Amino acid sequence: MRLPRFEYLRPETLGQALSLLAVHKDDAKILAGGTDLLVRMKKGLLKPKALISLKALNELSYIKKEDACIKIGAGASLADIIASDIIQKEAKALFQACGKVGAITLQHYTGTIGGNILQDNRCHHYNQSGLHRSGRQACHKDGGKICYARDEADRCNSTCQSDGATALMALGAGITLARKGGERTIDLADFYTTDGIMPFAIESHELLKEIIIPVQGAKSAYTRLAYRSAIDYPIVCAGVLLKPSDTQKDKIDEARIVVGAIARSPLFLVRESSSLKGKNLNDTDAFKKAADSSMNSASTFAVHNVGSTLKYRCDMVSEMVFQALKKSARAALPTKE
Ligand SMILES: Cc1cc2nc3c(=O)[nH]c(=O)nc-3n(C[C@H](O)[C@H](O)[C@H](O)COP(=O)(O)OP(=O)(O)OC[C@H]3O[C@@H](n4cnc5c(N)ncnc54)[C@H](O)[C@@H]3O)c2cc1C
Ligand code: SF4
Repeated sequence: MRLPRFEYLRPETLGQALSLLAVHKDDAKILAGGTDLLVRMKKGLLKPKALISLKALNELSYIKKEDACIKIGAGASLADIIASDIIQKEAKALFQACGKVGAITLQHYTGTIGGNILQDNRCHHYNQSGLHRSGRQACHKDGGKICYARDEADRCNSTCQSDGATALMALGAGITLARKGGERTIDLADFYTTDGIMPFAIESHELLKEIIIPVQGAKSAYTRLAYRSAIDYPIVCAGVLLKPSDTQKDKIDEARIVVGAIARSPLFLVRESSSLKGKNLNDTDAFKKAADSSMNSASTFAVHNVGSTLKYRCDMVSEMVFQALKKSARAALPTKE
């Protein structure tokens, strides 16, 4: 498979990159590590006229602690995140999630966290070669009017399989989107549309600049299931965060449960998260109840389009959430003197 022709643009500053985006808009795509984008281009799934490469842009490759937050430049590599003491200590779910992405030799060193969040949603009916797709009627994402993954669906239900996004949503992260002349910061949880064709609420002249994780004395964990322990995408995953109460250290003040690789975006499960407020950090019955309820809630969004059977993936939501809650609680429990 060969890459289609494109113009290669290599800005050296963020300002130059934003100016190029303002000019080229929909005709251009950002090239970070290229481990998602170039694969899609080779399969003929998209043919941008220009690629705006971030490879010469060092100003987006940082991880720092500032104003009670961890700030990560969108161009930071997954390897840098995995190696960061700050992430290992204060954003464990992200450390664990990045460690699971793809292959250590390729995705970890070439892939960036920005590209990880913005990788396209996937579906095994669509992420195929042009030859494979040409043999049958086009689905919504290919410009047609049907969906092979869900009968009578009026839109595309391709699945978000980003490990990083699931962990970051559990950590309550925000993201800053920059454009020429300005920027805006939103909750990652508000970044998703309801259509797998264009899953992100980002404008064509915007660039993901920074990820902001609040540091709030909480503990987090990430679990996932994939066919193989390396190279494969998750078929179901969970990120959780547990914040102990300031006054009663063994009680939960705030919980966040996020289920990934099951729907068009990671799912922040508000009801299940709230059910843990006030519970003891070793209340495994409450964890099991929240995990089973997460499975029921997540299952309503699930479609059979990323491998394995739908039933198995849905059943495993409960186990992923339960294991993540136990890991996170173990880390949050006060140590005995
Ligand atoms: C074999 C294989 C296995 C993989 N396994 C996993 C896995 O297990 N888990 C997982 O999460 N991912 C997986 N991936 C997907 C991908 O490799 C990673 O998600 C990687 O982190 C993507 O980062 P990148 O920098 O290479 O993104 P790129 O390919 O450069 O970009 C991805 C998308 O994001 C856009 N983009 C990138 N940066 C920005 C920015 N700053 N602002 C605006 N848009 C931007 C690009 O235009 C593009 O559309 C796998 C890929 C392959 C090929
Ligand atoms: S979910 Fe449906 S519309 Fe979307 S890519 Fe898959 S088959 Fe196509």
